Amino acid sequence: MRNFDSFFRERLDDLKAEGRYRTFADLERIAGRFPRALYRSAPDASPREVTVWCSNDYLGMGQHPALAAAMHGSIEKSGAGAGGTRNISGTSHEIVQLERELAAFHGKEAGLAFTSGYISNEAALGTLAKHMPEAIVFSDALNHASMIAGIRNSRCEYQVFRHNDAAHLRQLLEAAAPHRPKIVAFESVYSMDGDIAPLKDLLDVCEQFNALTYLDEVHAVGLYGPTGAGIAEREGLAHRFHVIEGTLGKAFGLIGGYITGSAPLVDFVRSFAPGFIFTTALPPSVAAGARASLKVIRGAADLRTRHQAIAADLKARLLAAGLPVMPSESHIVPVKVGDPKACRRVAAILLEQHGIYVQPINYPTVPKGTERLRLTPTPLHDEAEVAALIAALSSVWRELSLPIAA
Ligand SMILES: *Cc1c(COP(=O)(O)O)cnc(C)c1O
Repeated sequence: MRNFDSFFRERLDDLKAEGRYRTFADLERIAGRFPRALYRSAPDASPREVTVWCSNDYLGMGQHPALAAAMHGSIEKSGAGAGGTRNISGTSHEIVQLERELAAFHGKEAGLAFTSGYISNEAALGTLAKHMPEAIVFSDALNHASMIAGIRNSRCEYQVFRHNDAAHLRQLLEAAAPHRPKIVAFESVYSMDGDIAPLKDLLDVCEQFNALTYLDEVHAVGLYGPTGAGIAEREGLAHRFHVIEGTLGKAFGLIGGYITGSAPLVDFVRSFAPGFIFTTALPPSVAAGARASLKVIRGAADLRTRHQAIAADLKARLLAAGLPVMPSESHIVPVKVGDPKACRRVAAILLEQHGIYVQPINYPTVPKGTERLRLTPTPLHDEAEVAALIAALSSVWRELSLPIAA
């Protein structure tokens, strides 16, 4: 048997030399005590309690009693797994109801659930682009890897417009042949910088050129708009998008993804997307949990207000402490380090010496030179945890003489 391991080791050594090798923290979340978790530095090490500052469970829904009760009840009623693909006995009544509720949430005719947000983007965008003859996709420069994967897999022509730049998008659309179908894909909240797309400007341009509009609201669902349906809802623009895509894995606190849109569009993706067809469905318990989460989220305006307030407060206090908070219009609070090795070092010291867990964000997730910590405050972080974070960051910044300009 030929041994290929030297090849794998060399490539891994390259990653390590560049400071890009990823290590995962072994965490055990503690139900009822979010954002606290047990951390083990090795599989057999004794656990230590830490505060998590980088969870995408933005509202702590992952431990909400209503969600847990729905999942327990569903497992007792229907058992654990899905039993097959959607086609082969995997379409549970819970999924059918979830899809109707997600459609209503976004004011659309139909919804379709996938096993993750990544798969929903890859499958839906890929299928639309592949099957529309002569389609061209126009993609925001900072679109998530899952959208890029879908666009590339479709093998259709695509063009990248400058991030959030409606004027550049207009130039590209103008230059494209009028008869060709156009698909424009972008996000509402961008997860690494925490900036928000100018949805109305982008929509105005898209409509002028009759483009199909695809909006990823993954970092906004649950968090923005009167019922938590996202930035499009907040701005009264949801009805102007052909597709609104979201995840059940972040603010919903669970796992899974979805698209919503017109009945024919959703039926088309259901019928043609391999990433939807040839994979086991979400288990009924997950769909039941997602429905419970959605119900809480729709009525959680107070929680959303508190979420925004704690994010604003954290930004202000970090700035007051002389720490390089990068400008952000959302609940995401990036703090710039600017070097991959230093970024890793900061995170290691925070974890080992201060009991604070925040994952370093390095290239290729963000451009070189903008390596950062990405803090995600939630309404469940209390005053003592915020104060401990600021004290720890100030101390590490002094210890390593890190730059204070964002
Ligand atoms: C996380 C993320 C996804 C993928 O969602 P998952 O449910 O985690 O697979 C899609 N789009 C964006 C912008 C994301 O940040």
